[in-house]
Amino acid sequence: MRAEKCDKCSLLADISNHTHELALFTSCYCGELEEKTYAISEWLKLASMLENVEVSAWKHELFSMFTCEPTAALLNSEGKYNTAYITELTRFIFTCNALEETYKLMSLYYSKSFHPRNETPNKPSVKTIVLFSSIEDSLLPKHFYHYLNTLEDLVKTYIKNHNSEFKYLDFYEEGHKCRALDTIRLLRNHYAHGTIPINLTSDYDCSMQVWSNLFQIIKRATRIILICIQALLNKHTSKFNYEFYLECIAYEYWLERQEFDMSKEEHMLLFQQGVPR
Ligand SMILES: [Zn+2]
Repeated sequence: MRAEKCDKCSLLADISNHTHELALFTSCYCGELEEKTYAISEWLKLASMLENVEVSAWKHELFSMFTCEPTAALLNSEGKYNTAYITELTRFIFTCNALEETYKLMSLYYSKSFHPRNETPNKPSVKTIVLFSSIEDSLLPKHFYHYLNTLEDLVKTYIKNHNSEFKYLDFYEEGHKCRALDTIRLLRNHYAHGTIPINLTSDYDCSMQVWSNLFQIIKRATRIILICIQALLNKHTSKFNYEFYLECIAYEYWLERQEFDMSKEEHMLLFQQGVPR
């Protein structure tokens, strides 16, 4: 199920590790908005703990005891592809819920001066898309635009394959950083309204390219959500408990381990040189 990755995409951590790190990071905010950041963190924690949503295609095979080899292969294949797809779809939904909580928090920082037409939209999701324009490129991860463009390309293929339509906000052109959350808003709506097909078996019902396109979209969309939540919190919330964060990642223990893991020769060298440890 692994797709070929380019040099830039290979730099990204595994999606469940990235979600875990962000959940930890988000849990370290304090102050009067702590309740809101805690809700974001809890959804991310759930997304990071997700291992597998098992789908068995045998459930609806009434005479499973007598199935021939090709049918058994078909059912196993269906289960395999659906399990992979539904696992990532579930992670995407949990991450979208974390994003919903982020919208509520970010609405507090909205100012119509960020809007290209000086307007104040009603929906917290649209407010957050507009607010994203306040984030300097230096606060975004390296290759952010590559990750965004990859998602946009995948969505274009989806639109072509399924004769679908995406109604983007009309004031951000393709490739603009605010298109990241706008694409997520539209994708989430498509999933919520059941527009995106989910009953897929790449070997039989649809081509591998179509299956892979949908699978890559949800994975890349989840990644973009994580990046956007991190950037928004970094920019607009200030009460980050750094000491608690170091405690959470067991930083002191890590430092001790570094010393412990040193080779005998390194210890001896430090001892001989009298270097304080
Ligand atoms: Zn790439």
